[in-house]
Amino acid sequence: MTGWTVAPDAGRVEQPRCGHLDQAPAEEPPAAARGCVECLAAGGSWVHLRKCLLCGHVGCCDSSPGQHAWSHADTTGHALARSVEKGEDWAWCYPDSLFLRPEPS
Ligand SMILES: [Zn+2]
Ligand SMILES: [Zn+2]
Ligand SMILES: [Zn+2]
Repeated sequence: MTGWTVAPDAGRVEQPRCGHLDQAPAEEPPAAARGCVECLAAGGSWVHLRKCLLCGHVGCCDSSPGQHAWSHADTTGHALARSVEKGEDWAWCYPDSLFLRPEPS
């Protein structure tokens, strides 16, 4: 299983907490699509992709015109999404604006 933990932030006095970590299922859901679900449907393009850790929805990042990963989090309440870019092993909590990293096993 993949657990996630809040990435240490040297710039903060108090280590921030994320109350959404237990939303993520033990088995990470497979990606729903090979690209942003909404952009593929609309013929749009994206910069980077994020995958929802709760349902596998794939959406585009905040640097993309559609910002569909954010709108997915906003409309569904699914707080956590991970980067699906090659070599990037981190996730993001949208409500808390926190970087998450895989829990050391
Ligand atoms: Zn959170
Ligand atoms: Zn998109
Ligand atoms: Zn989702």
